[in-house]
Amino acid sequence: MEIKKFLCGNCKKTIEIPRGTPKPEVCPHCGAPAANIHRIDEGGRGLGPGKGQRCCSCGSGKF
Ligand SMILES: [Zn+2]
Repeated sequence: MEIKKFLCGNCKKTIEIPRGTPKPEVCPHCGAPAANIHRIDEGGRGLGPGKGQRCCSCGSGKF
């Protein structure tokens, strides 16, 4: 099962919930409102090779 990760900006703890479950209304650790909870993973997108990065300094211009 895939897990979505959020970080509570109040208590700094990670909140892990199953994919398909809505973002928690409040932090389960400290009760902070959702405004303090931020998504920290990207749902499997992004951070792939070459995204937002130059090639490995080899100068070829290719990924
Ligand atoms: Zn919290």
